[in-house]
Amino acid sequence: MPSIIKFSTIFALFILSILFINYVVFYFNISDINNINFFSKSNSSYLKIYFTPMLYATSLIIMFIIEFIILGWNNSSLKSILSLSKSTCRVDTFYIWIKLSGISNILFNLIFFGFGFYLLKEIENISIFKINNIFFQFISAILLISFIEYFYHRILHSNYFWELHKIHHAAEEMNIFTASREHPVVVSIAIILISIPVGLFGIDPLIAILCKVIMGGYNLMLHSKVFILPDFLKIILISTKDHHLHHSTSEKHFNKNFGNLFNFWDKLFGTYFNSDNLNNITIGINDKNYNNKNYLKQMYVSIYLWVKNFLKT
Ligand SMILES: [Zn+2]
Ligand SMILES: [Zn+2]
Repeated sequence: MPSIIKFSTIFALFILSILFINYVVFYFNISDINNINFFSKSNSSYLKIYFTPMLYATSLIIMFIIEFIILGWNNSSLKSILSLSKSTCRVDTFYIWIKLSGISNILFNLIFFGFGFYLLKEIENISIFKINNIFFQFISAILLISFIEYFYHRILHSNYFWELHKIHHAAEEMNIFTASREHPVVVSIAIILISIPVGLFGIDPLIAILCKVIMGGYNLMLHSKVFILPDFLKIILISTKDHHLHHSTSEKHFNKNFGNLFNFWDKLFGTYFNSDNLNNITIGINDKNYNNKNYLKQMYVSIYLWVKNFLKT
């Protein structure tokens, strides 16, 4: 089959399956977050904004356009992904499919035994005080969320959680889709953790959306090949190359650059490694089990190994 027809067919099937699953979820009324929350009848949770596939799709499209302008079609993530020639790209595509189809929302609730959105609603009610100034609300939200994500990422690299985070690090090529390549358990715990500051400080839903869009979008760039961060911003922001170094196969780069927006948490806690003078960083880990076609097996095997390691450590 000519390659252009093969690519078009795969791309069309990818989009159609996403639309179909979203339609099924909508038809059975499980698109309403509260209906897949088995234990809560409340419809007040505004934290459901974290679950909108549309929001994610928009960030992706914006990043694809930026990448296309800067790198051109031949070096773009979209070209690499569409060829599906590398197993690492196929795994990336599987995880983006889970996210865009809304399946990850259902998994989130199942992972917390149906209490997922109930937990989020409870978090909204733990407000200890409210910052009235919208600007300071934004600053405190972004600082707290980035701080929690920094420490959570460090925990993922500990012996207790590494098995689950391996799926992300098993990528052998960096592209925009690699950012989504995370185990559903890792994503679900992160959602609860990063919702804590939103609840504690009574963050306005629009501010929470803004933080999510900025941090989510930035995370896509960190996994791309777009190296455009000006030097004056490198004083506080983690750069694309800094994050590529985090994925490096070289032992001296292990457990460095955990931040996914700011670099000052890494600098403060001694885990920052300046990547400015490095070129050709090799990406990946020494475990080939996470780049094969058994996507579902990868998911449950990593849960099994995680629990086994957790009990042993
Ligand atoms: Zn990591
Ligand atoms: Zn990464």
